[in-house]
Amino acid sequence: MDLSQFKVVEIANAVKSKKISAVEVTQHFLSRIENLDKKINSFISVNQHAITEAKKIDEVVASGKDPGLLAGVPIAVKDLLCTEGLKTTAASKILANFIPPYDASVVANLKQHGAVVIGKTNLDEFAMGSSNETSAFGNVKNPWNLEYVPGGSSGGSAAALAARLSPAAIGTDTGGSIRQPASFCGVYGIKPTYGRVSRYGIIAYASSLDQAGPMAHSTEDCALLLESFAGRCKHDSTTSAEPVPKWSKNLRDDLSGMRIGLPKEYFAAKIDDDTQKIIDQAIKTVEKRGAKTVEVHLPLVKYAVPIYYLIATSEASSNLARYDGIRYGHRANMQEHKVKTIDELYSISRGEGFGTEVKRRIVLGTYALSSGYYDAYYQKACQVRNLLRAQFLKAFESCDILMSPVTLSPAFKIGSRVKSVLEMYMNDIFTTSTNLTGLPGMSVPGGYSANGLPIGVQITARHFDEQSLFNVSFALEKHLVKEARSPHVI
Ligand code: GLN
Repeated sequence: MDLSQFKVVEIANAVKSKKISAVEVTQHFLSRIENLDKKINSFISVNQHAITEAKKIDEVVASGKDPGLLAGVPIAVKDLLCTEGLKTTAASKILANFIPPYDASVVANLKQHGAVVIGKTNLDEFAMGSSNETSAFGNVKNPWNLEYVPGGSSGGSAAALAARLSPAAIGTDTGGSIRQPASFCGVYGIKPTYGRVSRYGIIAYASSLDQAGPMAHSTEDCALLLESFAGRCKHDSTTSAEPVPKWSKNLRDDLSGMRIGLPKEYFAAKIDDDTQKIIDQAIKTVEKRGAKTVEVHLPLVKYAVPIYYLIATSEASSNLARYDGIRYGHRANMQEHKVKTIDELYSISRGEGFGTEVKRRIVLGTYALSSGYYDAYYQKACQVRNLLRAQFLKAFESCDILMSPVTLSPAFKIGSRVKSVLEMYMNDIFTTSTNLTGLPGMSVPGGYSANGLPIGVQITARHFDEQSLFNVSFALEKHLVKEARSPHVI
């Protein structure tokens, strides 16, 4: 079997049983990146020390010690997570030369379990976007059709997976950034419950919404990866002490007794025919596996996009204030600009360092937080957020899982939505509520559109009930998609 097709679980087992070395695995994926990524642009940088790190894993295996759950598994890490000694840019000019002195907790945990960081993946600048077109390092192309976007903001992670440049990837999700690219690229991706995963060392976009999560080619792989880095972290007080179950060991595709809620308001939206067809098939599949479907009502979801764009931009305006050219980030050339005051230095440095979308959001958020507008915008949004959360919790009294599309339609063409900000923001219509309410959500591959683009199915569960998500995902994996297709570049 071709190593490119190996799942995380298969690689770890093969390395542990010495059927293959971690160095061979790493070498295989590094050469794929070298040969194929020119077309896709999914990596911002490759880890030059990956082979040396893989050698260390092989030495542990040879010594008879336990190399960890993820022995020798290459991981593509979104370039928003700090990696010690490895450039971390957030796909922004303002951090183009930033080399972190420490690893994000997610990365530290992955390494502790034997994983090898293979490179840092491209994203929308500071994770703000849905198409990967706002990256300062060029846009990413969808391996299923190079004229299409891979989604965003974790588009590099999703595209790298789809093109089999890495067997596993890490993304972050503030309003849909794991689930939407996973859907557009035909891979699995989970945004865990808020507080499941440490945000320490992840460059902050909107702190009350940000969560990191795994992306991979199977439910089991996602479950195993999440087990390796979920849990309480002493560096992030918002992490929960809730125990981390062995999700991967408890997967079941028998959904007897499970109630799947279909939110009426989601299905009233203008969903395209291919997407609707796949959701209908997913519904039939879960019913065949013993689940019962029920209609639920979430009338406040119509406010999710406006609330999200007030709260996320407000938090972003505060989080991004630190990039001033003095404490952090690119500093403008003072002589060239004849800079006289510190205010000028701030403003020119930030003007040069941030891209248009990031500036738009900083301005929006600063406005929403400013005195006189705070009550009308930011505070009002927070109040509606609480009501939305209450409405979701109420819906979960009559069901165990919510099922819906991830987006209104599959991937769109590069350049087709950059002019209409509103149209781009509407991409987040089904995904933002999950972050606003802190619930765990997942995108599971469901099938393909008539023109061959992948389409995912979104499932959402109660807080800390990732097991139910994984079980529904596992049932869909086994019983919904019948054909294994490969994208264009392979
Ligand atoms: N597409 C959303 C946005 O543009 C979500 C981004 C994210 O989850 N990081 O903000």
